[in-house]
Amino acid sequence: MSEFVFPLATPSVAVKGTSARFPVRRIWCVGRNYAAHAREMGADTREPPFFFSKQPDMVVPPGNVAYPGLTKDLQHEIELVVALKSGGTDIAPEAALAHVFGYAVGLDLTRRDLQGEAKKKGHPWEVGKSFEASAPIAPITPAAQAGDIAAGRITLTVNGALRQQSPLADLIWSVPEVIARLSRQVAVGAGDLIFTGTPEGVAAIAKGDVLVGEVTGLEPLKVTIV
Ligand code: MN
Repeated sequence: MSEFVFPLATPSVAVKGTSARFPVRRIWCVGRNYAAHAREMGADTREPPFFFSKQPDMVVPPGNVAYPGLTKDLQHEIELVVALKSGGTDIAPEAALAHVFGYAVGLDLTRRDLQGEAKKKGHPWEVGKSFEASAPIAPITPAAQAGDIAAGRITLTVNGALRQQSPLADLIWSVPEVIARLSRQVAVGAGDLIFTGTPEGVAAIAKGDVLVGEVTGLEPLKVTIV
């Protein structure tokens, strides 16, 4: 095996019940996947899903997250995250769940003001979506221990007040459909994380805020903005 000209760490996420970590290859996020959130963002709820990406080293564990630069409107988006152990292209929805390693609770942190400017100009969303520590994620729960995810609920509290909540049955595109759609666009594979979209109730957060995200059957995500 060749040596590298300098060492490079592999970004990774903790896994419930083991000291082994999940190595992150790619991070994809669904743009709009709950009808009420699509409406609050002024979008058509019947559109097919679309995907944007964050970089693998933007994952951070629960704990303190630094308020990022450039923005005056950092917002929370609590999301169910799907972690893949295998993949391929043109995966059928019926075959998609066989590629799932596990599930986690994640935050798609968003610089909403910069995302809004980018949308107006027809620019890419990266300035609003893809920045340091923009993807806090709780430990991954292996699929066999997670129960029936689609039957559960997703919630987010900020400083103890409920901000976002939804049954996961309200996903416009289900987990198998999201994996199938993404696999038509790119080859999905082991190490991929897919943020499946956020329900309505996105709002600004400030330094000192304590966010607790939960999905039925999964490890909760607790983040403090500092
Ligand atoms: Mn999102």
